[in-house]
Amino acid sequence: MSEVENSKKIAILGSTGSIGTQALEIVREQKGKLEIEVLTANSNAELLIAQAIEFKPNHVVIADESKYQLLKDALANEDVKVFAGSKSIEEVIEITSAEIVLTAMVGWSGLKPTIKAIECKKRIALANKETLVVAGDIITQLCQQHVVDLIPVDSEHSAIFQCLIGENLDAIDKIILTASGGPFRGKTKAELINITKVEALKHPNWNMGAKITIDSATLMNKGLEVIEAKWLFGLRREQIEVVVHPQSIIHSMVEFNDGSIKAQMGLPDMKLPIHYAFFFPQRVKTNFKRTSFKEIKSLTFEEPDIVTFNNLSLAYHAMDKGGNMPCVLNAANEVAVDAFLHDKIKFLQIAELNEKCMDRVSFIKKSTIDDLVNTDYETRRIAEEEIRKMAK
Ligand code: NDP
Ligand code: MG
Repeated sequence: MSEVENSKKIAILGSTGSIGTQALEIVREQKGKLEIEVLTANSNAELLIAQAIEFKPNHVVIADESKYQLLKDALANEDVKVFAGSKSIEEVIEITSAEIVLTAMVGWSGLKPTIKAIECKKRIALANKETLVVAGDIITQLCQQHVVDLIPVDSEHSAIFQCLIGENLDAIDKIILTASGGPFRGKTKAELINITKVEALKHPNWNMGAKITIDSATLMNKGLEVIEAKWLFGLRREQIEVVVHPQSIIHSMVEFNDGSIKAQMGLPDMKLPIHYAFFFPQRVKTNFKRTSFKEIKSLTFEEPDIVTFNNLSLAYHAMDKGGNMPCVLNAANEVAVDAFLHDKIKFLQIAELNEKCMDRVSFIKKSTIDDLVNTDYETRRIAEEEIRKMAK
């Protein structure tokens, strides 16, 4: 069967962002096969209004309450219910008839809506990797309890997911996560001291939101993905290897216990994994640009430089330690990236700040959601304190 029989009802959390807008391009291209039920944004009311008029969802939510009236007035003639405030995102998930929730919000803000969506038995198309980093054990247990599928949207994890179709998880020797290396691959620490945000925001292969673009430049993104992979595929540390592959054609690989390796490939375009997550287990025809190996010519691989890009080591360390440590790393990094984007700290200080917070925040081995909320809060406070010290 190659055609989709009934249209799939989708909620997009973070519809105004890089992943959200690409998801809507797919909805536009796959006319009649996907139906939008919910759209949410943080504060970009103008784009949310335009999206609501075009895609006709039943519910829209803007987290920033000061934009409520603007949204409400602009959509007065549309058949759509308008909500505002972060809590409303969870309330709308509870009442929507959407079957699939694409979590395309950024950072910590994705955690509670994702939990709510799992509790409501929605299939999760997971872009918001920070949720699994912060609360991987809680999220995976909730998915088992509510019999909910978590379909990865992150390109590397979608690749591994696709390589594992028809395979036994016990037969995995290791996975090989590919990393582009970001814009500063091959540079020394000395060359990175005065990197500006304009330079760091230029990713060689992917066009993404600001936070993940900086995370890619510091290799934090790959660190977060190592932890994400652990939870998605139930892996041990020694089973997760990172290799730098600057062309971003192989999206990741799995090596099995007989020595055979499967790789999933394609051009670097996030629409591919988003599309796959929407239609899984079916493959549905697209008109996306095809890969030409004659044009690409060579695929190369190298070791990641974890001394210059210390964030990757910090992520392995946080994963080994477990408990609330990945939550500390995530919160510290969110504050650090924001501070870098506001010219409050320098590029190399992002990893320094992350390490300082991991040293200072109290460790909790078995964390509840409330513990994680407190850890996130406490880490942000300590990170701000460290930033003030760095400025002196
Ligand atoms: P963007 O910054 O481009 O978009 C984020 C979206 O979330 C926007 O719609 C934004 O609204 C909304 N948002 C941000 N903060 C909040 C908040 N506090 N409450 C409610 N909504 C909020 O991010 P990306 O699309 O790049 O990334 C989204 C997620 O997907 C991240 O977790 C990222 O790691 C992951 N991802 C992204 C990839 C990419 O190619 N971009 C690749 C793989 C994973 P507004 O526009 O109003 O600010
Ligand atoms: Mg990725």
